[in-house]
Amino acid sequence: MIRRILLPAFALCLAASPLAAQGYHGFNPKNMDTNARPCEDFYRYALGTWEKNTVIPAEYASYGVDQEIEERSFGVLKGILESAAQDKAAPKGSERQKVGDFFASGMDSARIEKEGLKPLKGHLARIEGMNRKDLEVTLAGMHREQFPPAFRFRVEQDDKASEHYIVQISQGGLGLPEREYYLKTDAKSLELRAKYQTHLAKNFEFLGEQPAAAKAHAQEVLDLETRLAKASMSMEELRDPNAVYHKMTPAALAAQAPGLDWNAYFKALGLGPVESLLVRQPKFFQELGRMAQDVPLAQWKTYLRWNLLRSTASNLNAAIEEEDFAFYGKALQGTQAQKPRWKRILAETDEAMGEALGKLYVEKAFPPQAKAKMQEVVKNILEALKGRIRGLEWMSEATKQQALSKVATIRVKIGYPDIWRDYSKLEIDRGPFVLNALRARAFEFQRNLGRLGKPLDRGEWLMTPPTNNAYYEPTLNEICFPAGILQPPYFDLEADDAVNYGNIGATIGHELTHGFDDQGRQFDAQGNLKDWWTPEDAKAFDARAQLVVKQFDAFEPLPGMHINGKTTLGENLADLGGLKIAYDAWKLSQKGKAPVGLIEGFTPEQRFFLGYAETWRLKHREEALRSRLMTDVHSPAKYRILGPLANMPEFFEAFGCKEGDPMVRPATDRPSIW
Ligand SMILES: [Zn+2]
Repeated sequence: MIRRILLPAFALCLAASPLAAQGYHGFNPKNMDTNARPCEDFYRYALGTWEKNTVIPAEYASYGVDQEIEERSFGVLKGILESAAQDKAAPKGSERQKVGDFFASGMDSARIEKEGLKPLKGHLARIEGMNRKDLEVTLAGMHREQFPPAFRFRVEQDDKASEHYIVQISQGGLGLPEREYYLKTDAKSLELRAKYQTHLAKNFEFLGEQPAAAKAHAQEVLDLETRLAKASMSMEELRDPNAVYHKMTPAALAAQAPGLDWNAYFKALGLGPVESLLVRQPKFFQELGRMAQDVPLAQWKTYLRWNLLRSTASNLNAAIEEEDFAFYGKALQGTQAQKPRWKRILAETDEAMGEALGKLYVEKAFPPQAKAKMQEVVKNILEALKGRIRGLEWMSEATKQQALSKVATIRVKIGYPDIWRDYSKLEIDRGPFVLNALRARAFEFQRNLGRLGKPLDRGEWLMTPPTNNAYYEPTLNEICFPAGILQPPYFDLEADDAVNYGNIGATIGHELTHGFDDQGRQFDAQGNLKDWWTPEDAKAFDARAQLVVKQFDAFEPLPGMHINGKTTLGENLADLGGLKIAYDAWKLSQKGKAPVGLIEGFTPEQRFFLGYAETWRLKHREEALRSRLMTDVHSPAKYRILGPLANMPEFFEAFGCKEGDPMVRPATDRPSIW
């Protein structure tokens, strides 16, 4: 339930930021197109000039406020990493040494070129030498280093006993982003699959195969993955938490999916006896069991070799890395050029040891005032949410009481963790780079595995501190705002309250309402999957939510490609609810303060909504937009402005919009949920 899909985006909280230096706080009036009418197209009104003048730089699939933040912060993180890499005095085993060596090994492209695939010789030999009976052990070995074949394994909280961790297995194993990519038959999808096959074949050539053999192997991989895709649940189906909750013993799993020896797999992972586990998608594992039996051993080996390469491409020599970019960056996203090497290695470092890098980062870049101000904003937003719940006309009194107690137990994480992750057992040296990356991945796997049987760790963070993003986690009933998002223009200590509440305030509200949307409401205050609504409440909520489904189904960002109103429902509801709550909270925050007049010609109410629009200042390449429509549970940025505002009387009032204006949905179609 993150704010947006995770892209490698980092941020930095500096008072003297380039955005502030441009002389504006919160939003830039120069980005507006004041020839447009706010009640006709608020996106164009708020951001039209920016949209018209912005050319997406070659290295980006999408460009906007997040990427500006990234540009700014990457410069600072680069300074941290380069100084660590050059620091000969950093004590061996210290985090500074590890972060510095990791970065240095990634920047050593001469060595990476010279070594080629040599560092993976052992991995390749293990796959080559495997017999049918070794499949489970080989999969376990690969999963331990977070290679992605066949399915996913994690130790996570038990949805229905949230104080406990439990083994979980879920669908996976696809080289394309989502199951629909294998199944759709429109021209664009066929073209992408053809490009994927070419990409697969090139990878087999990197492994030393002749073109004819490589082509045949590409077909084998596509066939195998298509079977996995067909057995996978759709994005829409995955949104139902009960549909993905199947607790069973390993024996019951073996009875359903007899093709795989699950005990051998768990043992090879290093697990003791497993009493029970969550099988997220039983049908997927039934098919996988059949595939373990009827897919020829040689085809499995081919598939595993592909997984080896695809998941380490960014750590290998230029030919492999460039081919990986040509497909995943260019063909799928439309990005024209790779990012400079240092940016790519920086992102890899964040992924490998994000809290070690994050610690160095917040020491340098996260001012204590930001945390204090943020706590104040969150406090007001929580108050506003309580007020909204109390006033709901469609919710029963009993459910309101439960909802209020859920609000009271929400935990809030701001900036960075209280207790940092311990990397002392992770060994990092000057190379080979790919082995550093694999050790970091194995270390993280082991950390995750080690939670089994331990008490719930409420201090854990699911994002690294420099991440420019936020999340609500229903099983923990907590919201988290890393340091990376708490900076201009999202959160500007020098901006007026109206703008900050419209921007970061609406994001906080967004995350909070996830606890009460069609998914989050199925988890109680303790984070347990347990419906605490009366059937009447659920019915009233669903009827209102249906209006939002209908509204978003009608949006058509690309010719013939509509937004899926059901898949994006939770996020669309969160946007609308978040805005309403933020608006109330802002009003609360102004109590007892002298009224603020016009700033730059706009009333505070108008600035609230202009601040909100700034959150979604983002332009996509066509390919990136297409891919988002197929894989993202969030609507494209533009519709996150147009959709919720058209349902908001406070917005109509701020800009004098009338019934019948395009930005005003008819009263009967406007959901009043929060
Ligand atoms: Zn969200």
